[in-house]
Amino acid sequence: MVRDLVHDPILLARKSQPAGKADLPVLEDLLDTFRAHREICVGMAANMIGVTNRIIVFDQDGTEQAMLNPEILSAQMPYDTQESCLSLLGGPRPCRRYGKIKVRWQTPGLQVRIKTFTGFTAQIIQHEIDHLNGVLI
Ligand SMILES: [Zn+2]
Repeated sequence: MVRDLVHDPILLARKSQPAGKADLPVLEDLLDTFRAHREICVGMAANMIGVTNRIIVFDQDGTEQAMLNPEILSAQMPYDTQESCLSLLGGPRPCRRYGKIKVRWQTPGLQVRIKTFTGFTAQIIQHEIDHLNGVLI
């Protein structure tokens, strides 16, 4: 089910709690909502649809990815850039990102994965994990 987007900065600043099996229906809604905004959106965190559990979805070179409880284990190659956010009005805002990150997460089947991401995919993951931590660009 496509859900309404949250724009309230106070709600978006709340830190999200760990996600588990009970949150899988939320993942479905998040994917539906993500697909509905796909043309202007490369990633989405669950709190953007009002659920403060640690779930993100994003585009990886044209393929949909979902992560539960993603965590950045290490980050290299910092750079300054600008990003826009579907939850925030106005134009792009400056932020600092890392060109290479190592991430641990759980799949929708709750299997643990660890992988290194680079480039734009790494940037999207960092933006969405910021959302989980209540950080807005
Ligand atoms: Zn955002």
